[in-house]
Amino acid sequence: METTKKLYDLDAYGTEFEAKVLTCEEVKKKDTTGYAVTLDQTLFFPEEGGQSPDQGTINGISVLDVQIKKDVIIHTLAAPVEVGSTVKGKIDWKHRFYNMQQHSGEHIFSGLVHSRFGYENVGFHLSDQTVTMDFNGVLSEADVAEVEYAVNEAIIKNIPIEVTFPTKEELETLDYRSKIEIEGQVRIVTIPGYDVCACCAPHVKRTGEIGMLKVLNVQSYKGGVRISILCGFRALLEFRKKAEVLSELSAKLSANQEGLGEAVDKLKNTNQAMKAKLAAANEKMMQQKLSEIPAEQDDALLFEEDLDVPVMRNAVNALVEAHSGICGIFAGSDADGYHYIVGSRSKDCREAAAALREKFGAKGGGKPEMVQGSVTASEADIRSVLE
Ligand SMILES: [Zn+2]
Repeated sequence: METTKKLYDLDAYGTEFEAKVLTCEEVKKKDTTGYAVTLDQTLFFPEEGGQSPDQGTINGISVLDVQIKKDVIIHTLAAPVEVGSTVKGKIDWKHRFYNMQQHSGEHIFSGLVHSRFGYENVGFHLSDQTVTMDFNGVLSEADVAEVEYAVNEAIIKNIPIEVTFPTKEELETLDYRSKIEIEGQVRIVTIPGYDVCACCAPHVKRTGEIGMLKVLNVQSYKGGVRISILCGFRALLEFRKKAEVLSELSAKLSANQEGLGEAVDKLKNTNQAMKAKLAAANEKMMQQKLSEIPAEQDDALLFEEDLDVPVMRNAVNALVEAHSGICGIFAGSDADGYHYIVGSRSKDCREAAAALREKFGAKGGGKPEMVQGSVTASEADIRSVLE
């Protein structure tokens, strides 16, 4: 098949082009039908080297995906186009430019890590949401902060980014990154003073267009580190999101940004103290309720809205001591069902559990002297079965 002329190779800033349709074939994926279209030339950058493909339209038809196989670029369209006809393509410039900002920023970062620490970028991923780089060596937080700052200095210097196609002989004398991967004509992207790298993707003309680079996350990965970054407008949008979250939290906690950690700690401590108070109050209330059950009563069942398991267990133990029959605590409601603990010093509680299971499909079991589980039935129905 005829290889596709890559118009983006020399002009990363072109957004519209004309091309001849070479092939158009229907492709079915699950329940969607698309059309695989090849052209004699294209501005659409395919999914390649870890980067998501360009978006846009061909003859006004949405381009759903762009792939490359053996230098043939395959556009998946939502509708067919006529083979042999001339079509007009238009790429989504905002999406393309955002990707260019990320990719050029990544080169400076990786170039600096390479020259300062000798590590290789062994994994690169550029999606519409995030950019990750994997380095085959460990970087401390301070190292990363230093590189991040240096990248932003390179951006401020507004250095021209060069794209060249050196001959094999020239390549042999050239020191560049990504030396192994490429066959055929190698495309070299140079950011003087920072990076020389073999790369097929569109880049900005000058580093100033990257705007800024911000590291978002660093984590250990396969003996090295995985670093997430965002550049340019995507960094701005992320900053906006984070600022919104911070102001919302600040308002809710009545604290400024610096005081948020302390405010959350305070909230957690208050919550813990309240829980302890509530548990103590529940325990007291249960004791009161238990003492109200007539001592001469054999069976003693209590139904409560909400109880912790330790409180339930203590209550059942107290009931078993005071009453000889079936003693049980049910926590919950008729509508949502109950958690239960049933105990007895004279009867086999497993029979009670079996009765609940048989009648109401209850779950649970245990030992002869104590069973626990859950049941969905009304208090009246449960009483009628157990008492
Ligand atoms: Zn690259």
